Amino acid sequence: MVKIDVKYTKLFINNEWVDAVSKKTFPTINPQDETVIVQVAEGDKADIDKAVAAAKKAFSRYSEWRTMDASQRGLLLLKLADLIESQARYLAELETLDCGKPVRKAEEEVYYSASVLRYYAGKADKIMGNTIPADGEVISFTMKEPVGVCGQIIPWNYPIPMLSWKIAPALAAGCTVIVKPAEQTPLTALAIAALIKEVGFPPGVVNIVPGYGPTAGAALTHHPDVDKVAFTGSTEVGRLVLGAASAVNLKRVTLELGGKSPLVVFDDADVEKAAQIAHAAAFANGGQCCCAGTRTYVQAGVYDQFVQKAAEIAQKRSVGNPFDDVQQGPQIDKEMYEKVLAYIEAGKKAGARCIAGGGKVGDKGYYIKPTVFADVKDDMKIAREEIFGPVQSIFKFNTFEEAVDRANDTNYGLGAGVITNDITRALTFAKHVRSGSVWVNTYDHVTAQTPFGGFKDSGLGRELGEDGINQYLECKTVTVALPKVPQL
Ligand code: NAD
Repeated sequence: MVKIDVKYTKLFINNEWVDAVSKKTFPTINPQDETVIVQVAEGDKADIDKAVAAAKKAFSRYSEWRTMDASQRGLLLLKLADLIESQARYLAELETLDCGKPVRKAEEEVYYSASVLRYYAGKADKIMGNTIPADGEVISFTMKEPVGVCGQIIPWNYPIPMLSWKIAPALAAGCTVIVKPAEQTPLTALAIAALIKEVGFPPGVVNIVPGYGPTAGAALTHHPDVDKVAFTGSTEVGRLVLGAASAVNLKRVTLELGGKSPLVVFDDADVEKAAQIAHAAAFANGGQCCCAGTRTYVQAGVYDQFVQKAAEIAQKRSVGNPFDDVQQGPQIDKEMYEKVLAYIEAGKKAGARCIAGGGKVGDKGYYIKPTVFADVKDDMKIAREEIFGPVQSIFKFNTFEEAVDRANDTNYGLGAGVITNDITRALTFAKHVRSGSVWVNTYDHVTAQTPFGGFKDSGLGRELGEDGINQYLECKTVTVALPKVPQL
């Protein structure tokens, strides 16, 4: 077993490490062997109040942060990116310990997160309004101003990337933040908090408060001094967040929620390549990905060949100790492990053909075999509900119109994929599919520059790219009277 030094377990408020007001702690569990890694301070309403007060003070009119040059904000983000990269191996190992993803992937995610910080660092001093020729008596212009104090609630599936999505655009815009990491994975956010302090962000600009959703999370979404909430997680909790955000004030809200994303393979595709792309779409991060392409629609002409390939690839997928060179580690926790296994049983019971996997691996840790179902019918539970585990469902279709209709037959709309060599078909599919991202002959290619978010029940607003920073800016219109004939 790799020995990893866990250095930070307290709350990070106002650039200081503090115990919870209640003095309570909660355990974070190693999904490999179900042991307690460490106890972490458990933030609650009283701690959220402290963190919000610190963030509010840091956002006050003449504070160091509000009077700082925009380019200096960018420089701090650049320095943070460098520092995070300099600790990439340590952060990756800590991430793997806490959430079970293969360490090689965790390390890639650290570098990816640095790229998000750098992208928004470059935007910090390029936030500009417009001048508007309104009418003959005035001149108007707009200023883009930071929204204010932001409550950022993140999930456990990509803890470091989600932290970067939540802090980079907010800080570039000049906001202050309170981050509530997922209770399953608080460790890397705290390790990065230490780097945030080292880089020199003023006290209160970034606060990190681990704790549970219904207590710490809800306190943040209900807080009257929080101006905006950005949430990533389940659609169920997303609805609660939206309700809470309008209860005491009218917070700006962005939601990045669940999905049941389709990937459509047309019969002109190279079947081997298509099966590889579809496999990666469904199984990336052990299927614990909001935009996982878990509904694979395959045109009748290549269906049998595709199904055979998909089964072969899944059977070869290596599952095991995430510190070894494997493709898949354990699922995040007991609850998700049991939930995914129940879906697998539901698929079998409903009559879908299980052609790979179909159960757990071993008796210790939350390991599940990469599972593929063929001949799945649209009304089965595994076809309709987000599983969030290593399960791919394959469906047969005949015509283009049928593929689009069935791809859209869901309340979700986060991602979609199409595999074909026919550009017209690909673009027509991209036009008609109702989802925030569409990938052609690839899947889940998300960079700092490309907006990401959902249609329908998959969310509200966008993260990343130009759209991502706009969610942290208010538009103020200033109108100045100019006499038609000046008396100068
Ligand atoms: P969740 O939505 O319960 O948790 C996500 C975050 O929200 C965590 O930080 C959690 O503490 C917080 N939270 C929970 N209840 C809250 C509340 N009432 N108010 C404010 N914050 C609250 O997700 P989960 O329980 O970790 O996973 C359950 C399901 O969520 C999964 O099966 C999956 O479908 C989905 N999920 C989606 C994503 C995604 O990236 N879209 C990520 C993780 C989980």
